[in-house]
Amino acid sequence: MDIIHLLPDSVANQIAAGEVIQRPASCLKELVENSLDAGAEHIRILVRDAGRTLLQVVDDGKGMSPTDARMAFERHATSKISSAQDLFSLRTMGFRGEALASICAVAQVEMQTRRVEDEVGALLEIEGSRVTRSEVCNCSVGTNIKVKNLFYNVPARRRFLKTDQTELRNLLNEFYHIALVYPRVNFTFASNEEVLVDLSAGTEKQRIEQVFGKGSSRSYTANLVDVRSDTDMVSIRGFVGKPETASRNAQQYFFVNGRFMRHPYFHKAIMTAFSGMLPGDFAPSYFIYFDINPEAIDVNIHPTKTEIKFVDEQAIFQILMAAVRESLGKFDIAPSLDFNRSGEIEMPFMTATPGSSSAPRVTVNPGYSPFRRETYAPQSSLTGWESLYQPSAPARTGLLFQPDGEELKPVLYKDRYILLPTADGLWIIDPRRAHQTVLYEQYMAQLGRQKAESQQVLFPEVMAVHPDQVSVLEEMMPDLEQLGFCLERLSKTEYSISGIPSVLSGKTVEPVVQNMLHEVVQTEQKASDGWRRSVVLSLSRDTAIPAGKHLTEEEMKDLITRLFALKNYQHTPDGKRVISVLSDEDIMGKFA
Ligand code: ADP
Ligand code: MG
Repeated sequence: MDIIHLLPDSVANQIAAGEVIQRPASCLKELVENSLDAGAEHIRILVRDAGRTLLQVVDDGKGMSPTDARMAFERHATSKISSAQDLFSLRTMGFRGEALASICAVAQVEMQTRRVEDEVGALLEIEGSRVTRSEVCNCSVGTNIKVKNLFYNVPARRRFLKTDQTELRNLLNEFYHIALVYPRVNFTFASNEEVLVDLSAGTEKQRIEQVFGKGSSRSYTANLVDVRSDTDMVSIRGFVGKPETASRNAQQYFFVNGRFMRHPYFHKAIMTAFSGMLPGDFAPSYFIYFDINPEAIDVNIHPTKTEIKFVDEQAIFQILMAAVRESLGKFDIAPSLDFNRSGEIEMPFMTATPGSSSAPRVTVNPGYSPFRRETYAPQSSLTGWESLYQPSAPARTGLLFQPDGEELKPVLYKDRYILLPTADGLWIIDPRRAHQTVLYEQYMAQLGRQKAESQQVLFPEVMAVHPDQVSVLEEMMPDLEQLGFCLERLSKTEYSISGIPSVLSGKTVEPVVQNMLHEVVQTEQKASDGWRRSVVLSLSRDTAIPAGKHLTEEEMKDLITRLFALKNYQHTPDGKRVISVLSDEDIMGKFA
């Protein structure tokens, strides 16, 4: 039986328009999702030149009839939905019926496919949407599709591609997004004939270990704690990293019904559960799998389908936060349990469901920070020549006293520099840079704690956002709120700024927010870590004292004390020198 039919236009139009294939990674995603939708158990991926010259996916799924093989490349040809109603009960990955049509429009495609009930398979060659070859062939059951010379007829697109290194990284990221939710499928990924990843079927935890634990003798998943919550609304399973393994580039993944998603709001739920346990810009790893009735989500709001709207986001936020808290609490009392193999093992205390009447067992100490010592440990003092370049802060204790108890006396030089005579020589400090460095650390720390105080503004400023940047702004939102901003969406591209951090009171804040957004967009940082630094960097620039501002002695002392309390006080977060030292030798040299 042939199973593919055309979607009526009315349905097609209901499906959000959008370009499906922007780069090799998006092409790979569509191909692999098709293999999974076809029930494949083994999927082999082969790329050459980061997908530029070849992207091949070989599966052992159900294959296609010769007619379906032809139909598959027509726009809106799909076997997966037939009416708008079906859109709301989707369980398959693809549904638009436009991926293969888009791919064959911009590449040379060769496909072999066979169903188990067919004696022979179908071979098709298509170039720029024109079928150039169509015949029967001998091939194994499943589908083998080669996409060659992607964008061969769209030079602009080709030029738009990044270096092979970057495109390969994009391919691998896309691949991991899928492989992590399909642990029971075997995958291999080869680049230029070299197998880079080989994943055998197993549990989710084993898959995570295979993907992130490789190359290390220490078990990656040993540092993960199980998270689990089953309610009528949603089932949540997964893992979060123990607080002490948090880092600046933690692996953070949400999946819903077998699909990778980004969800800044739920991210915030996890960060809230961790609040007080992590230093400034450190974040925990997490792998959270949501299972929810497809009718309670809309996967169709974004063309690349990674942003997903939930009907009941606030309730799920609470459920998620509680589940993570509970897991962290358990971990607190049972740190020596072997979580490594616990993918399948039921822990005795795992049976209680949230909301059950048993008394709360463990609460998390919000003041607990495994990093505190590291953060504030004084640097060992340096000796000899090194001290000239690495000033070993006379005031590292946070007080402006010399070792012999003499108070340091800062002097302001032309409102431009702070001069500070010390036992190590004459220190020259740039006050604006010092302030920027202090603020940067302060804001970063703020992101890991409870929300900063926010001031409601009487007449909110309205900010227009470039349509391309809306999604970036949305992603930044949890952090902006954490810093004390409150933005409300007025229309597709306009926001009102109704709350601001108190440091900005009385200032025009629209440019401040725009600057943060620009900084994030410009540095092209993706996901949690990078853009967060950009946000804070920009905000610290905009809130630091201007160069040439007059400072009182008290202000200087306060600034220096706060500066020296930091681990990195010699350079601004963007690498500019904060302190310069004139050593005694330097000074004496001038009189030689
Ligand atoms: P969609 O996945 O949205 O339905 P595609 O353009 O990706 O649209 O694919 C069109 C149709 O081709 C699918 O609905 C499916 O029936 C068929 N198809 C594509 N790839 C495969 C595959 N690897 N194995 C079996 N059938 C496939
Ligand atoms: Mg598809």
